[in-house]
Amino acid sequence: MKTILAIHTGGTISMSQNENGEVVQNSDNPIAEQQVILNGKINLVTDEMFNLPSPHVTPAVMMKINDRIKQAMNEGIDGVVITHGTDTLEETAYFLDLTLPNTIPIVLTGAMRSSNEIGSDGLYNFQSAIKVAAADESYGKGVLVVMNDEIHTARYVTKTHTTNVATFRTPTFGPIGIVTHSGANYFQELIETEAVELDKVLDNVFLLKAYAGMDGTLFDAINQPTTRGLVIEGLGAGNLPPETLPAVQRLIDNGVPIVLVSRCYNGVAQDIYDYEGGGIQLKRLGLILCKGLNGQKARIKLLVGLSAGKRGQELVEFVNNAVS
Ligand code: ASP
Repeated sequence: MKTILAIHTGGTISMSQNENGEVVQNSDNPIAEQQVILNGKINLVTDEMFNLPSPHVTPAVMMKINDRIKQAMNEGIDGVVITHGTDTLEETAYFLDLTLPNTIPIVLTGAMRSSNEIGSDGLYNFQSAIKVAAADESYGKGVLVVMNDEIHTARYVTKTHTTNVATFRTPTFGPIGIVTHSGANYFQELIETEAVELDKVLDNVFLLKAYAGMDGTLFDAINQPTTRGLVIEGLGAGNLPPETLPAVQRLIDNGVPIVLVSRCYNGVAQDIYDYEGGGIQLKRLGLILCKGLNGQKARIKLLVGLSAGKRGQELVEFVNNAVS
């Protein structure tokens, strides 16, 4: 019988709707109390680590989850399920993907409807996540996100809808598998990338989104001695309005590594255009073009790379190996 560790961290999956229709936190997690399922085929160990709405989750919290999983790995656990608020679930998932060895299945899940709402998806998603974490087929797949019968990679999944239960999608590539009655079914393989060991996590890695008419104001505002790095969600294939460039140059001059992704939902940032502010010029300025990650994931990757002590060319290579 496989032993699966369920780490509960909070989010809608552990909340309920009150008599006024407001979704509120519970002191006792209704999901953790459920006797899950799978006909006694799984030995489920429960750790109610946190009870946080996911906008309250920080990289320091992610580090604590990382430490807890490492401890469980040393104790010979077969798989891990983490319940988490959906707002920042993709960031925690990717942080763990980048910082844990790819040895046992680690699956994150959550819910869009709280535990006592009609059509609540929490318990179902929790059961699906346990099925996936316990499946032999789930080894070597990196950290996974299971919601609404789909299996996504932590690297590319993103929350796409504010309330719909089918909110988690993998633009450009699609889910790598689906959950059926019999278990986990995979249809794609993930390209292996580097994971790093962290003993601390840094602050002050920022994320800015470009827009028509943007100037240097926001870039200058974050140009502080404490700033460690910046991710820009650029326009289209990876371009910026020309008025931003002097302030971007000032950040570069101060040694702040800047990663460029696209604000587009699909596709990758590339150095295609050679006009003022075009991707070719941005690359020449020293921006690191990161393929395939959205802004919040690129920020996690930059944060992890910097926290692991990577600088210069080593950092560029770490950020760039999202798609080999
Ligand atoms: N706001 C909630 C959270 O992330 C949303 C959810 O869990 O679905 O904590």
